[in-house]
Amino acid sequence: MHRSGETWMAVILGVIFLGFLGYWTTQRFVGGPNRHYYQRTKTDNRGTIARGHYSQEELRALTLLTHGSQYHGNTSLDIAATKYAYQLDGEPLPNIVGQDGVLQLYNKSEFMTTAMVRDAAAYWNRLAGVKIVEIVDRQRLSDEVIHDDENQRGVLGRQSYNGQGLIFFPQNWHISNLSAKDRNNWQEAALIHEIGHALGIPHLGGGPLGGNAATAGIITTEFMAPWRPVRNPLGVRSTTVDAAALALAGLSWQQPRKLASWVLTTPMATVTYNQGRLTSTIPRGSES
Ligand SMILES: [Zn+2]
Repeated sequence: MHRSGETWMAVILGVIFLGFLGYWTTQRFVGGPNRHYYQRTKTDNRGTIARGHYSQEELRALTLLTHGSQYHGNTSLDIAATKYAYQLDGEPLPNIVGQDGVLQLYNKSEFMTTAMVRDAAAYWNRLAGVKIVEIVDRQRLSDEVIHDDENQRGVLGRQSYNGQGLIFFPQNWHISNLSAKDRNNWQEAALIHEIGHALGIPHLGGGPLGGNAATAGIITTEFMAPWRPVRNPLGVRSTTVDAAALALAGLSWQQPRKLASWVLTTPMATVTYNQGRLTSTIPRGSES
């Protein structure tokens, strides 16, 4: 009787051990149970703003900066300062940065070259004043994957938030009549735009939903709104609104971070991408 109890206990422990070993091997060598998916980090949908990084006055100043103008900015982020909520139209603004506070991207797109993806990461890092986007060389190390897909009605690119990653639709781009510079700048603007969504930034085209420009069919200089090279011959230039929106988004992450706080003291500073060249007047090393 006693002996059979011990045997059973050994069998149970053995089964538990084998299960653990299988799990560990999968995680360690195969790279997790969802290695085929394009989004490996779960979408963060809490929609809350961390306290303690800015004074109430500074937080209010950031939300005022996001207002912009009729076709610029977003007028409904004020509750970030009053209710510590990061929402749009009553819905949490999602991000997929993950728990380490850095967005890791893996590029499988052929339409967007890895050099262009690296430039987009550098663009966001300059704007933030610290590294927040990193390009990794293995899919399993990424929060999400940039890739191309077949035609989808009228869409150039899309941040899915639903496991499909960051998608571009090369067939929808009609750019063969543009100069090499304009083609490159437009694609880069789209990359920067979609990465902005992954960081938790909404559209910044004016009004309560940032959608005024799109609704009115107006092309802007704002890369988080309808952007076209015809209005932006000098490339993709950031604005005060972009920096303030990034500062708020950083406070909504699972690991909240103080980003782009230079905008409170040097609001006119910008970062610009033009045909593979990045220039910046943003104070360097302003965050840690
Ligand atoms: Zn968008």
